[in-house]
Amino acid sequence: MEMGFFAPRHMDIGGGAAARIAVLLGRFGLSRPLIVTDPVMVKLGLVRRITDPLEAAGIVCTIFSDTVPEPVDTVVEAGVAIARGGAFDCLIGFGGGSPIDTAKAINILLAAAPSARMRDFKVPVAADTAALPLIAVPTTAGTGSEATRFTVITDTETDEKMLIAGLGALPLAAVVDYELTMSVPPRTTADTGIDAFTHALEAYVSRRANPVSDAYARSAMRLIGANLRKVWQTPQDRDAREAMMLGATLAGLAFSNASVALVHGMSRPIGAHFHVPHGMSNAMLLPAVTRFSLNAALPRYAESARLAGFARADDADQLAGARLIEALEAINAELEVPTPQGFGVARADWDALLPKMAEQALASGSPGNNPAVPDAAEIVK
Ligand code: NAD
Repeated sequence: MEMGFFAPRHMDIGGGAAARIAVLLGRFGLSRPLIVTDPVMVKLGLVRRITDPLEAAGIVCTIFSDTVPEPVDTVVEAGVAIARGGAFDCLIGFGGGSPIDTAKAINILLAAAPSARMRDFKVPVAADTAALPLIAVPTTAGTGSEATRFTVITDTETDEKMLIAGLGALPLAAVVDYELTMSVPPRTTADTGIDAFTHALEAYVSRRANPVSDAYARSAMRLIGANLRKVWQTPQDRDAREAMMLGATLAGLAFSNASVALVHGMSRPIGAHFHVPHGMSNAMLLPAVTRFSLNAALPRYAESARLAGFARADDADQLAGARLIEALEAINAELEVPTPQGFGVARADWDALLPKMAEQALASGSPGNNPAVPDAAEIVK
């Protein structure tokens, strides 16, 4: 067997970790950060959880807060201009997956020629070079971006949600503090939680899974399976929030190495064309894609159901697989995941774009990691 394993060099994990960020920067000899975040983080005062301790340590913080959910290339380019204009020695991505991914993308473009565009780095190109050390501080328990070698950026000219992969997108360090997630609203709690479960499940059934990614995926499914409904029902349950945050990061480590599969391949075009939040479009697809793929990797899907607590330890594979699909459907119902039409997508627009979305899904490469590899017609179906 041949395998590699990628992970940030340091991860400070636990309640209150954000307050120690100056110590972390000091360990790497960094003192001039550009903080990449979104307007909500500034408005809620959440970004002060890192700027206060940094400023107390004498570190001047510059904030770029113009990032948007499901980030786009034009915002990345605006961030590159800010980064080129200052003498920064590191980037801090602070927020959900969107600001963290924006920080990663800024970092990759910053290392390239001024004429380079984001689309020059989409897969299958290896985006291995970045300009500065990057520290990721997630405020949602979902994407795992703090631990991955990916960033996802939409091309505003083609409406393609591009997967960009390589060492250039891997953070040097991450601060994983569940206390930052206590204010996440219910809809985003649900979407990001299902996103994290999807990462762990897709990593576990991926054709590129390996023994190390399996260990992370298994731990993640245990944590998320036991706590996903709890954070929806009781958002102030600190133990559940902590478990979800850890689960999301472990799932990130898993899929960063095993890759995601068909759900993600199909989800990105839905997000790009219809602006459905990433976790929600994953959730819309997860039961149907699992049903399509089940028999191609039945023992692994069955084991996932047992790990997540959706099946009993002594359930046979076929029964455990059926229970997995039932549980995913029940979670979508309880967590009020809409259908595309329920989200507001017009049926005619949806039908018209299906062939293009299937083509884009296949081009991303992610469906090729799925236990059952579909063709375009099966994706449309
Ligand atoms: P997000 O970053 O878009 O945030 C969603 C909303 O929640 C925003 O309005 C944000 O301001 C708000 N929010 C975030 N944290 C909050 C908090 N603590 N309190 C209150 N509000 C808060 O959502 P996300 O799901 O974390 O990230 C989605 C993006 O991540 C997508 O673009 C997706 O493609 C990408 N993604 C990247 C990877 C990767 O490996 N790089 C993996 C999966 C998804």
